[in-house]
Amino acid sequence: MIEINNISKWYGKYQVLNDCSVRVAKGEVVVVCGPSGSGKSTLIKTVNGLESFQQGDIVVDGTHLNDAIDFPKLRTRVGMVFQKFELFPHLTATENITLGPIKALSRDKAAAREKAHALLRRVGLLEHKDKYPAQLSGGQQQRVAIARALAMDPIAILFDEPTSALDPEMVTEVLDVMTDLANEGMTMIVVTHEMGFARRVADRVIFIDGGSIVEDCPKEEFFDNSERRPDRVKYFLSKIL
Ligand code: ATP
Ligand code: MG
Repeated sequence: MIEINNISKWYGKYQVLNDCSVRVAKGEVVVVCGPSGSGKSTLIKTVNGLESFQQGDIVVDGTHLNDAIDFPKLRTRVGMVFQKFELFPHLTATENITLGPIKALSRDKAAAREKAHALLRRVGLLEHKDKYPAQLSGGQQQRVAIARALAMDPIAILFDEPTSALDPEMVTEVLDVMTDLANEGMTMIVVTHEMGFARRVADRVIFIDGGSIVEDCPKEEFFDNSERRPDRVKYFLSKIL
């Protein structure tokens, strides 16, 4: 489904990604963790073309990401949920969700609204359908952002620290929605330091440090306290667990 093959990226002389390769099969949930500035956001943004790269190759659902491809179309196929919910402040929850399908997929307005309401019901927010982002809590806004991503019928969703801007009591409601999605078979790459989520939901955990992938293994192996784990992974886990 998603193949990242040996990609490297530089900002001037500074190498932000170093020969990174990741494969994500259909229905797989991959958690990406690592220290601040290690390249997590940059890595996942290459998958939907929000970040370019100078070396390597990415294939999404059979399409090679090169200059010839239609990046706006790619972004309709691969959804993204950010740390800061980034909803349009002047649009209601429903309108935030219908905008993409109507504008980018030319969907019928009534059908788009109906689907938006079904998605809001799914994330537990139907009663808030006509509220503006400022009238919603952070956790509710993030659930609208997830519904907005789902409205495009994506083949995969990328999450970049979706709960790290939330107050602790709202983290669970967002992780619960993500867990449901994973259980329904959505292909997901999730940058997060929520190791409880990783333990419960991930198929694989990737640890990235200094732009290099240091670990990429099944979660059982990642959380297994074996001595084989590199010191920097142990150190990182000792800080966050
Ligand atoms: P965090 O956990 O803080 O979100 P991250 O692992 O997501 O960090 P990235 O945002 O991918 O890290 O950044 C990786 C590195 O690239 C950092 O050192 C950052 O300073 C650098 N970087 C990011 N964007 C740019 C840019 N536009 N120009 C130059 N350097 C950049
Ligand atoms: Mg980041």
